[in-house]
Amino acid sequence: METRELTCIGCPMGCQLKVQIDHGQATEIAGNTCNRGEVYARKEVTNPTRIVTSTVTVEGGSHAVVSVKTSRDIPKDKIFEIIQEIKEVKVQAPVHIGDAIVSNVAGTGADIVATKEVK
Ligand code: SF4
Repeated sequence: METRELTCIGCPMGCQLKVQIDHGQATEIAGNTCNRGEVYARKEVTNPTRIVTSTVTVEGGSHAVVSVKTSRDIPKDKIFEIIQEIKEVKVQAPVHIGDAIVSNVAGTGADIVATKEVK
């Protein structure tokens, strides 16, 4: 039996969670104010995932970079690989919100999509 302390990232309250873990499964969760904290804690101890946000270089545009994010949650242990892959990318203006800048980033099945317009 192991105990882990986590900070819930479900909202700005940042509840401090205490999770009892037995054989890789959350058996008891305390400290959450709402059900989202429990869902987060269970996922975090079995299959932690995140949305990754970053920026990509834009050539010939009104701004030098465009903000981007993964199209869905990706495994937490892929974050570094994704950031490395994004660092190499350059995109030609114009860029539109929702444009897929990188497909299947780091083999995760997620795309890197633009979250801003660059003319
Ligand atoms: S447990 Fe609920 S109230 Fe607390 S930080 Fe998570 S989402 Fe917010």
